[in-house]
Amino acid sequence: MLEDLREEVLDANLALARHGLAALTWGNVSGIDRERGLVVIKPSGVPYDSMRGEHLAVVDLDGRVVEGSLRPSSDTATHLVLYRAFPELGGVVHTHSTWATAFAQAERDVPLLGTTHADLAPRSVPIARRLLPEEIEASYEESTGEILVEAVGSATTEEVPAVLAPGHGPFAWGTSASDALEKAVTLEEVAKMALLTLFLRPDAPLLDPAVRDKHFLRKHGPGAYYGQHRDHGIGGHAPKDASGGEAR
Ligand SMILES: [Zn+2]
Repeated sequence: MLEDLREEVLDANLALARHGLAALTWGNVSGIDRERGLVVIKPSGVPYDSMRGEHLAVVDLDGRVVEGSLRPSSDTATHLVLYRAFPELGGVVHTHSTWATAFAQAERDVPLLGTTHADLAPRSVPIARRLLPEEIEASYEESTGEILVEAVGSATTEEVPAVLAPGHGPFAWGTSASDALEKAVTLEEVAKMALLTLFLRPDAPLLDPAVRDKHFLRKHGPGAYYGQHRDHGIGGHAPKDASGGEAR
């Protein structure tokens, strides 16, 4: 079972580069085995073109390395805060993908302007608050996780599948590593469309709420009917959105 998770997390990490979301060694994907309480995550500083399954680090929810000889991603503590706060999460993705990061650097929410966004989430993708100086000093990665959790607030992680860390970049999550990857890829496209829309028309209207709800609810929640029934997201090798979106 952990071997399957390793494979999925490796595929999702490699897919970051393939989808153009991460250059060099930027970005990281993790996945969790909830039964064993173990998180598989990208190692620190290993280029995508030489990354193999045995390079992945396995840590427990307290960050202790359980398997693997390479150091886990420096962002591991952020991922762990998210897994501890939201038991429904199966995967987390962090990137510095250009279009979503532009919103993070502008410290702006990604507004809900169209149905592509509504398929992802029924509300804007929020920007988290800035870290306090003492948080940056004492516990930078962990505090980054905490501001993301704060930004989700009373919403569900399905309603808020991603948050922007200010001046930094997006974190996205889902029911598995491949689902989280799909959210990150979609967010990047949505952010690109939103920025171009705001460039054409700075006062562009928010999407009609009735259309917004139609699009979100046909892909999410108990009445979902879009796409095919399946266990997970786009996976490492399938083209983006080839079989539709979530069928849950
Ligand atoms: Zn980062």
